[in-house]
Amino acid sequence: MLAEFVRSASSPEQFPADGLPEIAFLGRSNVGKSSLINALVGKRGLAFTSNTPGRTQAINFYRIDGKYYFVDLPGYGYARVPRAAMEGWAKLIEHYLRERNTLRLSFLILDARRGWMEKDLDLKTWLEAHHRPYVVVASKIDKLNQSEQLHGLKAIRQQSEPLPFSAVTGRGVREIWQAISKTHQS
Ligand code: GDP
Repeated sequence: MLAEFVRSASSPEQFPADGLPEIAFLGRSNVGKSSLINALVGKRGLAFTSNTPGRTQAINFYRIDGKYYFVDLPGYGYARVPRAAMEGWAKLIEHYLRERNTLRLSFLILDARRGWMEKDLDLKTWLEAHHRPYVVVASKIDKLNQSEQLHGLKAIRQQSEPLPFSAVTGRGVREIWQAISKTHQS
């Protein structure tokens, strides 16, 4: 597989214009979004982690096999982001999610240990109100023992069926790819 970083967009004019279908990744800061993208493409360091300065408030586009884009949306709920930057963030993401015709599917990533937090629920409600299909991923599942996993997944399931995922063990990579391939079967 060929995964290439294409660009970091901080305004809609910078979004790619070639019309390829897009798969978006959403979640709170530090939820494991970059690790998930890197695990999916088997390429360490493709997606920037939240510790990479500058790149985290923009929307990052990665072209996968020349066929579609993985779209890494900036993580939300980071307390240290100043209010003005928060509002800019919300505007950019909202614009993307509302207007982007090429968007096929969003992955809403939750930390399996924490489950749904307020901002995740807000985003879920928003996606549903705008008829945007999404799949929930329960990340860092390796950090939970067997009974914690059952408990955590059950709590998440009350809102939406999650795909358990671990960037450490690779659990869930196949299932996430299956969800992606379903979006471009005709
Ligand atoms: P992002 O801010 O959502 O992009 O999160 P990162 O991918 O940068 O991950 C945040 C932290 O969680 C890093 O220290 C990662 O090593 C760790 N992490 C991410 N995914 C996993 C996982 O599946 N299992 C474990 N144990 N740690 C993870």
